[in-house]
Amino acid sequence: MDKSDKERVNEFYQSIQAEIEGKGYYLNPDRSFVDELLLGLLQNNDRYGYPSCPCRLSAGIKEQDMDLICPCDYRDDDLAEFGACYCALYVDEDVWAGLKTISSIPERRKKRTDSQSMDLLDSSNPSLAYPVYRCKVCGYLMAKDQPPSKCPICGVSKERFERFM
Ligand code: SF4
Repeated sequence: MDKSDKERVNEFYQSIQAEIEGKGYYLNPDRSFVDELLLGLLQNNDRYGYPSCPCRLSAGIKEQDMDLICPCDYRDDDLAEFGACYCALYVDEDVWAGLKTISSIPERRKKRTDSQSMDLLDSSNPSLAYPVYRCKVCGYLMAKDQPPSKCPICGVSKERFERFM
């Protein structure tokens, strides 16, 4: 990693730390491991225009990779079940504190098909006063005409929300 990479990675690290502070998310305490993953995210951002997961193969087409943009849609489920995300960039409090070690984490990703997407829309309830939107990363729900520009829980952008009801 050259000097400019180190500066970019350090800046990225600080921005993530500020974003997750007090929200129950933790970065892996192994800083050199984290730096390599952050460099991978930055390189993917340079390559594709979005920071897709450095541990998975990206399609290079944003619409197909939306679930893989870090933090991915699978982070919170993997944290709850295994104590770490698939890459182990994010860990739970016990791992962060050194009370638990990480074992291998199976791939949780399964592509949503068009028919499954339609099922979600079909489950909408026309009797609701407002549509309900769900953050696909952390599960936050909100009932408003539009999803928020930024998830108030995990901080991801509006495009990571789906119509839930
Ligand atoms: S949260 Fe972890 S597994 Fe998900 S995209 Fe980011 S680094 Fe990869």
